[in-house]
Amino acid sequence: MNLILVGPPGAGKGTQADRLSSEYGLAKLSTGDMLRAAVAAGTPLGLQAREIMAVGQLVPDVIMVNLIRERLSQPDCVNGFILDGFPRTIPQAEALDAMLDEIGRKLNAVIELKVNDVELIRRIAGRFSCTKCGAGYHDTSKPTMRTGVCDVCEGVEFSRREDDKPETMSKRLEAYNRQTAPLLPYYTAKGALWAVDGMADINVVAEQIASVLKKTAKLLTSA
Ligand code: AMP
Repeated sequence: MNLILVGPPGAGKGTQADRLSSEYGLAKLSTGDMLRAAVAAGTPLGLQAREIMAVGQLVPDVIMVNLIRERLSQPDCVNGFILDGFPRTIPQAEALDAMLDEIGRKLNAVIELKVNDVELIRRIAGRFSCTKCGAGYHDTSKPTMRTGVCDVCEGVEFSRREDDKPETMSKRLEAYNRQTAPLLPYYTAKGALWAVDGMADINVVAEQIASVLKKTAKLLTSA
């Protein structure tokens, strides 16, 4: 099964991609995570991406397409993958179509997580994660059980994403509306887009996605 999760920053793509990855054994390909790892490692890609990410803009298509091409060729993608944060522009989507054609793979579904702007800002403004294990939390909706101690690994250091600051967040939303939202009609025209209510509780969103996947499996078998 090959899936794309699409939605604005804070829609819950990463959270749902993690769940899908462990439930269905799919490789999670998060371009944001790949870029943050490159920034942390100080690689040439990281040096190039850092400034762009810090101002909430998009990294050039050619860089992102090459990154995904390389990643898709790795063995863990053989049983299927979930793309989280890619494609983010029409040229990226077109390049992905060409790449999948080349390797004889098909997309099963593009799932849009719909969340309104007020909720996106609330989610992003309050999110933080454990520096040691990466577990994600939120100031009000998912605080740690013990103040200052990670529930998962008992780490005591936490960090907030540089680009979650309010001024960068509004640039990221702008980039989503201008550059990424055109993917919705693009995939609708291909009959691949399924929208789910991303405002719902995490478990309810996961159930909605599971029911989309059941429907797409049926469509595939009856085709
Ligand atoms: P994310 O973690 O998905 O919110 O991505 C964080 C940042 O990484 C974005 O704001 C962009 O600057 C950059 N980025 C991630 N994925 C892409 C992509 N597919 N195309 C361009 N830039 C990207």
